[in-house]
Amino acid sequence: NDRLWLQVTITRYGNSEHLMVVRDITRLHQLEQMRKDFVANVSHELRTPLTVIAGYLETMLEHTDEMPPRWPRALNQMNQQAGRMQHLLNDLLLLAKLEATSPPSNTQPVAVAKLLQSIKGDALALSAERKHQITVEADDTLMLKGSESELRSAFSNLVFNAVKYTPDNGEIHVRWWCNEHGAHLAVQDSGIGIESKHLPRLTERFYRVDSSRASNTGGTGLGLAIVKHVLLRHQGRLDVNSTPSRGSTFTCHFPLSQATVI
Ligand code: ADP
Repeated sequence: NDRLWLQVTITRYGNSEHLMVVRDITRLHQLEQMRKDFVANVSHELRTPLTVIAGYLETMLEHTDEMPPRWPRALNQMNQQAGRMQHLLNDLLLLAKLEATSPPSNTQPVAVAKLLQSIKGDALALSAERKHQITVEADDTLMLKGSESELRSAFSNLVFNAVKYTPDNGEIHVRWWCNEHGAHLAVQDSGIGIESKHLPRLTERFYRVDSSRASNTGGTGLGLAIVKHVLLRHQGRLDVNSTPSRGSTFTCHFPLSQATVI
């Protein structure tokens, strides 16, 4: 805690002159840390009462036949909103954990192809009536060193987003492959797409292209922030290509040192 945080900027003038500015950002860093701790603590404290509320709501929903006519609909709404809040708190806590802890070490190779099949199953189960076509083309000899649970969170967010932002009957294609530049995972959809002016800000917390639509899709606005942090912890980076009304492709690139072939 008694560390000094310095920000150094070097600007070059002409051929031989440089200007170096050193700024003490220790206080800024401490404030940022306090903000992170506060968010993590509040999320943690809210989780327990919310679990109790959600539990009672579910029990009450098992007895709707004994209720006055307008109650079941109201209870259903409350239950749905409680679910959204639980989802939000879980995402906030996961993000706090990803920011606060050091990257996973001594990690086992993760079978990404198998992971993707499991994520596809979850995505289809969640959106069964929307009839998306999800195809997975994955090299099952290609493994990725890292934390399976973190990678699952990141890849699920990308696949679930593809489902959320693609109209019914749309196509989603997931690819996992390797070449001389590294290992790559691409999630391509035929959905609503994103205007280029939004692309640089997509991984900021709570950034949404269209907040009115986002509230209907049930997202938390934290999904891509989680993806960014998980990738950073696995030496990876995210690349987004998108054309409005045509679709988007989110690609994760990992260095070859993170991959192994069995
Ligand atoms: P959310 O919970 O709102 O989906 P995310 O952080 O996962 O939050 O995504 C941030 C925003 O990026 C979304 O609100 C949406 O506007 C946009 N977005 C993400 N994925 C896609 C996609 N596959 N197609 C179109 N827009 C997307």
